[in-house]
Amino acid sequence: MRFIFIHIFLLFASVSIGQLMDIGVFTRSRTFYIELKVEEGSYSLIGDTSVLEELNKGRIIVIRRSGSKVSCNLTGKGEMMFPSIRLVPTTNNSKLRYKIPKWKERIYDDGVKITSVSGKLIIVNQVDMDDYLSGVLLSEGGRGKPLEYYKVQALMSRTYALKNRDRHKKEGYQLCDNVHCQAYHKTSNDEKIRKATRATSGLIIVTKTSNEPISTYFSANCGGQTCEASYVWNTDVDYITSFIDTFCIHTKQAKWIKKIPKYQWKSFLEKHYGVKEEKYGNLLYNFKQESRKAFYIHPSLGVPLRDLRKKFRLKSTFFSTRSEGDYIVLEGRGFGHGVGLCQEGAMEMARQGFNFKQIALFYFSNVRIINYYKAHFFEQQEEGW
Ligand SMILES: [Zn+2]
Ligand SMILES: [Zn+2]
Repeated sequence: MRFIFIHIFLLFASVSIGQLMDIGVFTRSRTFYIELKVEEGSYSLIGDTSVLEELNKGRIIVIRRSGSKVSCNLTGKGEMMFPSIRLVPTTNNSKLRYKIPKWKERIYDDGVKITSVSGKLIIVNQVDMDDYLSGVLLSEGGRGKPLEYYKVQALMSRTYALKNRDRHKKEGYQLCDNVHCQAYHKTSNDEKIRKATRATSGLIIVTKTSNEPISTYFSANCGGQTCEASYVWNTDVDYITSFIDTFCIHTKQAKWIKKIPKYQWKSFLEKHYGVKEEKYGNLLYNFKQESRKAFYIHPSLGVPLRDLRKKFRLKSTFFSTRSEGDYIVLEGRGFGHGVGLCQEGAMEMARQGFNFKQIALFYFSNVRIINYYKAHFFEQQEEGW
């Protein structure tokens, strides 16, 4: 009995809890042709469900759209058509080079599945979750950051990926390769980033009461105080509260200044909110914001700071104003909406020796960090047996 259980567990571990993700790549192209080159390792070329050929390093395969099918040229057999063509890795660390007309070449880890839908190729990178996250971290944040900071980013990206995994279901993949989901334009050859995704493998942030991933809000710099979610989106979020963050106040993006002609400010307030200079005089240009507020001057005027930020393209809503001749001068703090994790603060915490869990739990309250795959395996087990 015990052996059977172990056997079943292993079966589950390799099949059901596999961490493969389907990521649509080159999703903005309308290509009908792709050239794939085995860059590292080796692959099985699979047409529909049958193995056609083994592909070794250096081998190039061209796949074309053929109506609603896809075709490729096989050694000794010529051009053959299939509903789908896959390249499945047969060794660890296998990589393919992707080349389509008019686009820069890209290298991605692991496998690929190609189909033809609505007159174009759908190219799906079937990739191990941690390989995918390494690519995202490099595409989005770049190199040279502290290891514990990369671990927090991996935790957040993984949480995001699992929360949004049904986003592109209709198109035949889970997430796209653009910032719409998470930028993913290459494999990562950065050892530190790979180390961070491996070290946090399976870990995600969930709410206190469920195993569901949270929404991982973040911005570049909170300006010294994080922002309530309701100030930005009109709705409260359980695990987001406003608090003082002193880790980010000495960085480049901690402060900003902007001068705007008074007439522009005045006409915006009058036109959209009926707030007139004749009534308020110079008070209209003098606003002190020592701690974060939702409204300009006073809530009774009904001018949300987020509207001003949008209209005047301000770096943040965390600013004070004063009058200077024909101009209103804005002195602001931070960069971004300020909700959730503050990237520059998190980076400074990592430099000061805090670990990734401490950093994540500093920026999100009422949350837990769990291993997603283990948690969901045991849930399935309880339901099934
Ligand atoms: Zn997307
Ligand atoms: Zn901050």
